[in-house]
Amino acid sequence: MEKCIFCEIVAENIPCTKIYESENILAFLDIAPVNPGHTLVIPKQHYPTLLDLPPALGQELLEALQKVAKAIKEGLQADGINLGMNNYRAAGQLVFHAHFHLIPRYEKDGLTLWPQQKYESETKMQEIAQQIINKL
Ligand code: AMP
Ligand code: ZN
Repeated sequence: MEKCIFCEIVAENIPCTKIYESENILAFLDIAPVNPGHTLVIPKQHYPTLLDLPPALGQELLEALQKVAKAIKEGLQADGINLGMNNYRAAGQLVFHAHFHLIPRYEKDGLTLWPQQKYESETKMQEIAQQIINKL
């Protein structure tokens, strides 16, 4: 089996710039930041995507995300923070060990994310909602 780079980081076989750690969570700087201070928050155990994460991890994970987001905002005087997660190749996931991106943002950093568009009609919007709701 191919080695997972984030598992290697957790095992300390590959170095990282550690920001925060709790029993089941590790946060470290992304080596190719969108803005300096861009941090990855990961479960120490290997789960490929959001859909594989055990809900019981939720509280510790949210605690870590909030703690690190607050520290980024205050420590780097960020005006805002993006929380992002890429799941599956089509969404840009490159490392298949679930991870959350915390990205410091600034009023004038010139970044534009998410090109958006309107639904073609209210009916279409309702139809799409139903396709999702049917699977809940
Ligand atoms: P994703 O596209 O969401 O799978 O993002 C993977 C992220 O991991 C990218 O932003 C990479 O820059 C980052 N990355 C890859 N290898 C390392 C590493 N060894 N240390 C820190 N960040 C890494
Ligand atoms: Zn892994």
